[in-house]
Formats: sequence, structure tokens, C-alpha cells
Amino acid sequence: MTDFDAVVIGAGVLGCNAAWHLQERGCRVLVLDEARGPATRTTRAAAGFVCLFSTIHRQEWGQTEWLMQDYGIEFYSRLSQSTGKDFAFHRSGIAYLYLTEQGWTDIQPCIATASAYGTPLEVLTSHRAQTILPQVAFDTTVGIIFDSRSLRLRAADAIPALAAQVEQRGGEIRYDVKVDGFALEGGRVSGVRTTEDVVAGECVVVAAGAWSRPLLAPLVCLPGEPTIVARYTTRPLPGVDEHLPMLMFSDSVHRFFIREERGGLLIGGADLQPLPADRAINATAPPHGIDGLPQDHAYRMREHLRKVEHVLPLLRQADIEQTDAGLPVYTEDRRFVADSIPGVEGLYALAACNEAGVTHGPALGRHLAELIVDGDTRLPRSRYAIDRF
Ligand SMILES: Cc1cc2nc3c(=O)[nH]c(=O)nc-3n(C[C@H](O)[C@H](O)[C@H](O)COP(=O)(O)OP(=O)(O)OC[C@H]3O[C@@H](n4cnc5c(N)ncnc54)[C@H](O)[C@@H]3O)c2cc1C
Repeated sequence: MTDFDAVVIGAGVLGCNAAWHLQERGCRVLVLDEARGPATRTTRAAAGFVCLFSTIHRQEWGQTEWLMQDYGIEFYSRLSQSTGKDFAFHRSGIAYLYLTEQGWTDIQPCIATASAYGTPLEVLTSHRAQTILPQVAFDTTVGIIFDSRSLRLRAADAIPALAAQVEQRGGEIRYDVKVDGFALEGGRVSGVRTTEDVVAGECVVVAAGAWSRPLLAPLVCLPGEPTIVARYTTRPLPGVDEHLPMLMFSDSVHRFFIREERGGLLIGGADLQPLPADRAINATAPPHGIDGLPQDHAYRMREHLRKVEHVLPLLRQADIEQTDAGLPVYTEDRRFVADSIPGVEGLYALAACNEAGVTHGPALGRHLAELIVDGDTRLPRSRYAIDRF
């Protein structure tokens, strides 16, 4: 018998959620991370939107992902209460802004679908916009929809709170430990090889973010391409506090996300296709950490935002104070990977976050724990299978 039922590689949002949900099902867990603490890579850079995104933000996400998003909202609400930690958790709601007739027309059927799932969507009138979003010049938009249930947090603080809870519940987390392979015995995994020794475990979960693919390369080709995504924060700005709803400029030509952060704004967004070269990464050999990643994307966002200053005049003052960037991993269908590794019993991957691992992390962790412990999952397993491509 080994000391651990499960060894989880990675103490980012996916690894910590996997560990927490495995504990829920009675497992003794060990989390290993090569960094000095939890949430030091892509999770650190996250904007921290935890939202009912299905169909409104991403048409690829349907009811299954909606159930995951709903669970994410419930999970972090409980985490905030049970830890009492300040991780900038606020039920601020999210407003989606449309500046073109085309964007507004295109979103109408999605509003109906999302509402049918249960998203409390309200199409704002001028009067309601004035109450909820006084910072926005409503007349410059074609339409705004508001979802009051979605929330935001600072993942760089929330996931350490989650990691601490894993430890309080008897789990072990070892930092400064790099995993460089797996111990295999007769077609099944018996532990992981670290730079120091072999750590035994009944099963192993690879949740190493953009670094999962090279780690698993000798055994399987993990789907998903890592891409540099940067965002920036501003100095505190007048009239900005935690009550400001998260904002999503959602037209295809203007795609920005904005939320309050320490009295200023946290801002990011999408580049137009094709992606600029400064966002490309070699998926098989990503850079060692995230600290040296180019931040050009954030500087481009600053310039793009000038085109919507008339909508949100605050943006005239939204200069860059600090930037950060991470390496989310995208699949073609924008769905996650939560599955066993074919041909290696006891080895699993929780990967391909599609820039939404904070929102979907709790449900992905629960899904994988169900698969490992119960052998059956409440969400359809094939939807997140490794071999679906
Ligand atoms: C700018 C930006 C904004 C975002 N905004 C949002 C948002 O608003 N909402 C949302 O839901 N998502 C958002 N995301 C996405 C979210 O940040 C990611 O989905 C999530 O952080 C991925 O977590 P992870 O655990 O897979 O990876 P990571 O956080 O990168 O964690 C992987 C961990 O594995 C460790 N590791 C790697 N290799 C090894 C090894 N060999 N041995 C031991 N340890 C190893 C690393 O040290 C690291 O701690 C955003 C991302 C970015 C970059």
C-alpha cells in the first residue's frame, strides 16, 4: 500500500481543485509543484471572472459547461465563507456591451438559450444602466445585457486559500519538487519520478498547465495549444470600486474584459486573427515559467481601448501600471481535457483550460474525482475525452 491514493502534479487552479475534490471522495492526496508556492503561473495571471459564460461569451459552451460554471460560482462562494480569506471575492455581476447592430442581432438567440439554462439575464434599459453602470455612456451602445449572478475573485489569492484548505483537511503539498516522469509497472502507473526520487501513488493526475503536454509526451499527445495571454492593471481611478460590474465588450471587433482591481482596472482582451507572433509558444517545449513571457499583448490592448473611450470615459485614464501574462491552453472545440491516459491505468490528465480554468476548475476537479473514485461521472465523459479529436 502506498502513502497516497492520488498524486497531483501542479498546484494551479486545476491541480488544487482536483486535490480538493479527491479529498471529498475520501482520498489521501499529495500535490507536487516545482514552484515555491501555489498559483504562481497561469493561475496567477487570471482575471478571475467566474461567470455563466455559456452561449453568451462562448457559443461552443452549452448546458454541460453551464452546469460547471454554476458549480464554480457555488464553490467559490463557499470557499470565501469557509476560509474567511480576502481574495477580492465580489458578486459584482457581469455586463456584456454591444457596440454594433450586427453584434446585438447575433447575440439575441444566445440570450434566449442562456436564459433557458438559468442565467439571470436582463437587457438593460437606459434607466437600469444608469443605476447599475453609471460609468458607461449607455447611448453609445446598441445594447447591454447584465447577469447579476456571476462573480469575480483574485485567483492569485483564492487558489492559495484553496491549497491551504487542502492541507488543513490532511492533504500534503510539496513545493520545489519537479516531476520529470512516471513510474510504470505492467501497464499501470505506480507513482511519479521527481528530480530527487520516486514518489509512490495509487493514481496520478497531471494538472501541470501548459507543461502537461511535454510531461506526458512519451505516453500520449495531449491536445491543446498554449498561447500567451496578457492583461494589465491601472493605478486606482476615481469612481472605481468593487461594485463595478465586470465588463465584457463583446462585439467581434472590440473584445475586451475589464474589472475592478484594488480601486483601479484590470484589463485584457482578444487580438484580431491571425494572432501576432509575440503570442506564439512551442507547445512541446514551453518556456520554464511565465515571468519572461512577452507582454506586448497588454500594450496593444491599451491602444485598442482608445477606440471605446467614448463608451467608458474612464478608459482615458486607463494607462498601464503593471502587466502579467500566462499560458492558457486552447483546444479546437474550446472544451477541456479531463480523462484517463489511454493504455496507462491510473494515470489522468486535467488540462486544456481554454482560458477558463478558474470558472470551470471546481467542476473539472469534481468530474475527474468522480471518474477516478466512482468510475462514473455526472457530466458526459466523452465531452472531455483525450481522444475526441
Ligand atoms: C490574462 C489571463 C486572464 C484569464 N482570465 C480568466 C478568467 O477571468 N476566468 C477564468 O476562468 N480563467 C481565466 N484565465 C485562465 C486561467 O488562468 C487558466 O485556465 C488557469 O489558470 C489554468 O490553470 P492550470 O492549473 O491548468 O495551470 P497553471 O496555473 O499554470 O498551473 C500549473 C502548475 O503546474 C506546475 N508544474 C508544471 N510543470 C511541473 C512539473 N514538471 N513538476 C511539478 N510541477 C509542475 C507549475 O509550477 C504550476 O504551478 C485567464 C488566463 C490569463 C492568462
